[in-house]
Amino acid sequence: MNKIGFGFLRFQKTGNDYDWSAIREMTDLFLDSGGRYFDTCYTYLNGASEEAIRRCVVNGRSRSGVQICDKLPGYLCRRPADALKYFDEMRLRCSADYFDVLMLHWLNAKNYEIADRLGQFEFLEEQKKAGNAVRIGFSYHDSAELLDRILTEHPNVDVVQIQLNYLDWDSAGIQSRLCYETCVKHGKKVIVMEPLKGGTLSSLPGEAEQALRAARPDWSAADWGLRFAQSMPEVETVLSGMVLPSQIRQNMAVPAVLTEEDRKTLFSVRGIITGKTSVACTGCRYCETHCPQRIPIPDYFAMFNELCRSPEDGWKILPSYESMSASRGRASECIGCGQCAEHCPQHLDIPRIMKEAAAALESA
Ligand code: SF4
Ligand code: SF4
Repeated sequence: MNKIGFGFLRFQKTGNDYDWSAIREMTDLFLDSGGRYFDTCYTYLNGASEEAIRRCVVNGRSRSGVQICDKLPGYLCRRPADALKYFDEMRLRCSADYFDVLMLHWLNAKNYEIADRLGQFEFLEEQKKAGNAVRIGFSYHDSAELLDRILTEHPNVDVVQIQLNYLDWDSAGIQSRLCYETCVKHGKKVIVMEPLKGGTLSSLPGEAEQALRAARPDWSAADWGLRFAQSMPEVETVLSGMVLPSQIRQNMAVPAVLTEEDRKTLFSVRGIITGKTSVACTGCRYCETHCPQRIPIPDYFAMFNELCRSPEDGWKILPSYESMSASRGRASECIGCGQCAEHCPQHLDIPRIMKEAAAALESA
């Protein structure tokens, strides 16, 4: 059994537009491989993610056997009536009368206050009653304590989307385990995001890679991460932002099975990975559009991580940095305004890290 869902979040433009036929082909491949769950959000790719749902998932296809989850940006609402305005736009962009899962996007303490004040949970319930949503829920980026409060105050949600992976399982910041256990306590099904921490767990430091290979020679680093997330009993779907047909083939072949022995092996390499990863950036790009200096924050953090992990590869990494920063802001042009950090689900202190990245990437 496989629980992989297709996250429409990481497609990149080819020139000025997206390669819609390539996305359509990947959608076909995903469905042919037994996949059924597609995940989008009003804000993903500035609306192009919902357009991809319309063009590649909905148009010319029966909805039978296909599940679409869309997320409402409740934090953009000023009045209760705004929720309907966004919801109508979401349905129009996706060309969908209803969503199989309708979520509030990105609940944290600040956004929960807005959702509560503007009656957005009641709005979700109305849509479910009207047949415009089969199930309702929210995606979540805050503490397990707040999650417990939300689920106590709003017991009618069906599903919760949380960040869950073996590296964040016991972390004090992301609290994967505690959030998962809170969902279980309230009888909610779990949708997993970031099972590979934005790719961090697909390419491991050599020592960690070797330890996992010794235990299971046929499994890739990504296999381990996807098995871990899928093996949780109350996890219904594990989202993967796949961008290549080969990733779809590979991920759809990974079963939802992990033995207790495998789990111990996996936990034993966490210290190695954490020790070699400077910045826990998942590459979600939520921060980027808020930067007045047009700094490609996740790209620079990925380069910084690579440089810390393998300083001997500086001869490859530094020219890439120079080439990218020729048309975008340089790391050293960060003015420390902090607008990016407000939107970072990993709670990274981006201005501080950007200074360190600038020192490393511009040292030559
Ligand atoms: S703190 Fe730096 S990276 Fe962040 S938005 Fe401001 S200028 Fe951009
Ligand atoms: S810095 Fe934070 S918001 Fe920006 S891409 Fe990385 S994880 Fe996402």
